[in-house]
Amino acid sequence: MKRYQLRIDGQSADPAGANWFETQNPYTGQTWAEIPRGDARDVDAAVHAAHRALTTGPWAEMTATQRGALMHKLGDLIARDAAKLAATEVRDNGKLFAEMQGQLNYIPQWFYYYGGLADKIQGSTLPLDKKGYFAFTRHEPVGVVAAITPWNSPLLLAAWKIAPALAAGCTIVIKPSEFTSASTLEFAELFDEAGFPPGVFNVVTGFGAEVGTPLVEHPLVSKISFTGSDATGRLINEKAARLLKHTSMELGGKSPNIVFEDADLEQAAFGAISGIFAATGQTCIAGSRLLVQDSIHDAFVEKLLAVARTARMGDPMDPATQVGPITTPPQFQKVLDYIDIARAEGAQVLLGGERGSAPECGQGWFVQPTIFTGVRNDMRIAQEEVFGPVLAVIRFTDEADALRIANDVRFGLAAAVWTQNIGRAIRMSERLQAGTVWVNTYRAISFMAPFGGYKDSGLGRENGIDAVREYLQTKSVWINSGAIAGNPFVLR
Ligand code: NAD
Repeated sequence: MKRYQLRIDGQSADPAGANWFETQNPYTGQTWAEIPRGDARDVDAAVHAAHRALTTGPWAEMTATQRGALMHKLGDLIARDAAKLAATEVRDNGKLFAEMQGQLNYIPQWFYYYGGLADKIQGSTLPLDKKGYFAFTRHEPVGVVAAITPWNSPLLLAAWKIAPALAAGCTIVIKPSEFTSASTLEFAELFDEAGFPPGVFNVVTGFGAEVGTPLVEHPLVSKISFTGSDATGRLINEKAARLLKHTSMELGGKSPNIVFEDADLEQAAFGAISGIFAATGQTCIAGSRLLVQDSIHDAFVEKLLAVARTARMGDPMDPATQVGPITTPPQFQKVLDYIDIARAEGAQVLLGGERGSAPECGQGWFVQPTIFTGVRNDMRIAQEEVFGPVLAVIRFTDEADALRIANDVRFGLAAAVWTQNIGRAIRMSERLQAGTVWVNTYRAISFMAPFGGYKDSGLGRENGIDAVREYLQTKSVWINSGAIAGNPFVLR
């Protein structure tokens, strides 16, 4: 069995406590590797290494152009190793190889894009209201970044943080999810091969309380970039507020996928499926609330069923598989619990509703693709994030009703509208309270398009040019070019 090591200061290292924990393959249920169980000592070593690299090492001396060149090299190495890294992710999180390979093939673009941006970060000269001064701004790295990531798309979500942080000149300590740490540890080796100085990128694996907490609280960490559940995000944000650290928070969602009677219903049905059954519903942007206009409700649900019924569960490495297992045993239980809750609330199971027990599911943690109809928006199944292949279908009467239902939830990560009416598309996209609105599509993302949450779905934005600002702080520099000192006891 493979035993991994931490990556600290450009070195592989055993954890200080000499403890490891096992990680399982969600398809087989079998342990396949041992992950270092880090603790506060490892966090301290990693943060100090990152701080040294930030303040004294060759990274601090490099021009932004040189940093960008390293990022390009890293992108090339990720492209080279995409299939290998994707296979590790599948072994650890059970998502389809096709999905993970697609993600890995795409990740280099983050490093090319932000690598190109690194030497275009510029301050400005300031037109002052005072004579005799020359003043300008500098945008400097915010400091050591603690990146904390979830289990659903470990490297993609890590890249959303790492690439802009490196472009800004920051150094990083990352703590991946305890359920899917292996790919981040393998990924770290590419930094050395690309030529990054030691300490720029460090990985400490382990549990939230043992690694996450000391990392968040470490005095040399300036910024916490978190992706995960809103409960953990809230906890971290409270701590960070007390310690006056910068944060960005990518949290959960309960996104409405809204189908109007004038939509292309074939396309909308595919959109609804990809919104909830792709990645086994384990995506923050899952379109877990399907809002369907009354007049087409029954016909549309029939269409949906026809496609959903054929979804093939099975081995995530098999290209024919469409729905893989749930990544973790607690999450598997949570999804089954929500199915019971929805039943008890009076929602009707139209499809699925059980654990997947077909022979091709093996010993994996499978839940059948599940569709509930007769859902009211005040039910828990419509308000709480399930993070699994469970769709809640809700009826609406007209545009105003659709908007009211769509926005009546504490989350605001994404939303989609299916309509052929351009005016309606514009009106809806203006009024939906979500960080991303799709019209006649679903689950489209890009390194170029800002991504993040309204309401309880988060703070700050990832992706796009502005994301680099999350990792910068602004300094104003004043130079006296001839101002005469006046009364020293009065503001200049
Ligand atoms: P989680 O909140 O349980 O864990 C996320 C990370 O936080 C893990 O690495 C975990 O070990 C760590 N952690 C746990 N307790 C901690 C603590 N006290 N201090 C510091 N770190 C701690 O989330 P998860 O179950 O791994 O991921 C699923 C969640 O992530 C879902 O809610 C999903 O919507 C969300 N998510 C959001 C986005 C987005 O971009 N908005 C993307 C993917 C997933």
